[in-house]
Amino acid sequence: MSEVINVAEIFGENVFNLAKMRERLPKKVYAEVKNIMENGGELSLATADVVAKAMKDWPVSKGATHYTHWFQPLTGITAEKHDSFISAPDEMGHTLLEFSGKELIKGEPDASSFPSGGLRSTFEARGYTVWDCTSPAFLKEDATGVVLCIPTAFYSYNGEALDKKTPLLRSLEAISRQALRIVRLFGNTEATRVIASVGAEQEYFLVDREKYLQRKDLIYAGRTLFGAPAPKGQEMDDQYFGAIRERVGAYMKELNAELWKLGITSKTQHNEVAPAQHEMAPIYSTANIAADHNQLVMETMKKVAGHHGLTCLLHEKPFAGVNGSGKHNNWSLNTDNGVNLLDPGDTPNQNIQFLLVLACIIKAVDIHADLLRQSASDVGNDHRLGANEAPPAIISIFLGDQLEDVVKQLVETGEAARCIEGNQLDTGVSSLPTIDKDATDRNRTSPFAFTGNKFEFRMVGSDDSIASPNTTLNAIVAEAFSEAADVLEQADDFDVAVHDLIKKYLTEHQRIIFNGNGYSDEWLREAERRGLPNIKSMVDAVPTLVTDKAVALFEKFGIFTRAELESRAEILYETYAKSINIEAMTMIDMAGKQIIPAVISYTTELAGSLNAVAAACPEADTSAQKELLIETSSLLAEAKRALNRLKEAVAEASAAAAGEAMAYAYKDKAVPAMDALRAPVDRLEMIVDKKYWPMPSYGDLMFEV
Ligand code: ADP
Ligand code: MG
Repeated sequence: MSEVINVAEIFGENVFNLAKMRERLPKKVYAEVKNIMENGGELSLATADVVAKAMKDWPVSKGATHYTHWFQPLTGITAEKHDSFISAPDEMGHTLLEFSGKELIKGEPDASSFPSGGLRSTFEARGYTVWDCTSPAFLKEDATGVVLCIPTAFYSYNGEALDKKTPLLRSLEAISRQALRIVRLFGNTEATRVIASVGAEQEYFLVDREKYLQRKDLIYAGRTLFGAPAPKGQEMDDQYFGAIRERVGAYMKELNAELWKLGITSKTQHNEVAPAQHEMAPIYSTANIAADHNQLVMETMKKVAGHHGLTCLLHEKPFAGVNGSGKHNNWSLNTDNGVNLLDPGDTPNQNIQFLLVLACIIKAVDIHADLLRQSASDVGNDHRLGANEAPPAIISIFLGDQLEDVVKQLVETGEAARCIEGNQLDTGVSSLPTIDKDATDRNRTSPFAFTGNKFEFRMVGSDDSIASPNTTLNAIVAEAFSEAADVLEQADDFDVAVHDLIKKYLTEHQRIIFNGNGYSDEWLREAERRGLPNIKSMVDAVPTLVTDKAVALFEKFGIFTRAELESRAEILYETYAKSINIEAMTMIDMAGKQIIPAVISYTTELAGSLNAVAAACPEADTSAQKELLIETSSLLAEAKRALNRLKEAVAEASAAAAGEAMAYAYKDKAVPAMDALRAPVDRLEMIVDKKYWPMPSYGDLMFEV
């Protein structure tokens, strides 16, 4: 029997949560910290000292030796520099463990080695990390021991944000302020803030670590750069929700326990569509905490895999030909007095506040479809979005039958008298209960789908931080709310004004609503006719960040300055070029040093066999060897030529001017040359004797976990 987990006991064990604060802080200090966590404000240094002492004593009692300001630079992953709690020894040679309020609040990492997109020259190295008390500190246990991790935001010396957390926090304040104006209009005087809540489903692949280590593409690029399809893929639909294999089950069990200790609400687990693909989803929480937790989820997934002889692949497209991985970002807005602004209730057609909120979101997504698309783009996601799986690259909104019908009535007549109701589902079996049906079915092909009381943004990549998509979502909806509030707060007759505004927004922006099949070619044409942007790649999406429209939006709410946006655009171009360069160099290495030599060995064996058989028995039929030798040699020659061309393409791309030009050179020259090399190599893999093939196949990787 495997070990029993006591969930209630371990949950939050490694988190300095409110319960631990209340236990360890004087009443007044606890109240002050709690108030700042909820309503913002600054902690006095004296109070910070008291908090810091508790934040040191608790981890030290659990064996911690170090603390770190944990932050999220623009690399997309997290960063930490450990400081031990020890102080300079006294004259007797004794050290004390110390941690001051100053050290808690502010850190000074050298910022020069983090991407800044030109915001800072390397000689201006100073950067600051600043404590984000709204996300609880936690303990990380690994080979270095136990480390207290303090979530922080990261700034340059001049105060520009160099991280993903800062804009997210700024956007949360903006959406809260603007959404409050909306609920006030409807008579809600109690709410003091509106919280953007997020639940991020996380997809991942697990492969055997020994096999992983035999593939340089997985090691360097996180995805396979070569690989013929396995005889079986996902066509039988027998992976999705299938029984979980023993080894994977043991992995999930440990993953859950580790996440629960960190206070992460791991809730669902299942096999996903592709072989060796799985998913975990937590219970939703405040967007800021959800973003921090998702970073920890990704890190823990990778760490725990090692304990089971596995490697966790978070890349958006580890294997060609089967589903890639995403991160469905479920998003809703909730007042602190318990109202979900996205809850339509039983009769959405009569729920005016809901209809206004919906109309604002539809308007926001239509106006800023380009920005939303950008917020979900990363190098790996280029293989998903628009690649005939997951959501297409075109942003549209799925509302479902019920809401689509309400919107239609509103646009046509200005009134929504009727509302399709969920009826009952008769099972046809007398011993099974009749159940209530939702008013709306699901749609798996929409990038932005209304799912009951939240929107599910399905474009986000599995390997990406969820901070950017949520920052964008909060910002664009804050803008729509603010514009609506500007009109409605001045209205003489509120009822008429709100009615007119809903109708106006829905009429002007209904083109973004699409309830059909997002994967179909007809939709591509229809979307073009409607004038919806179809931004095909990450590189094409970068300029959306610095349009006048984007700058005006982000500056209006103090989320990004123009300089910050320009720097981020610069970093994205750089990241793209560097990532493709790594992939191309890996292909050059694998093809040149492993694959081509292996194919040469195989052709030599074929030629030897041909000669030997012909010599031994001139009448023998050697056509099979001959045919194989000809086919293999010609593919080998094609591969070698493609390898030469890829080398030239990389040389050319790397010589381009840094930034936009270089990113496009990699996209338009290196990527096609990579595809051209992969094609003959994958065909060779199908014919070359397996004993010569220098790496595990797709079948070995996906079916033998
Ligand atoms: P699905 O069937 O699409 O997987 P679930 O209801 O299981 O949908 O939810 C998936 C994710 O959405 C979970 O992380 C869940 O906590 C989150 N979620 C549910 N309700 C909300 C909400 N109101 N706001 C934000 N996220 C939510
Ligand atoms: Mg879902």
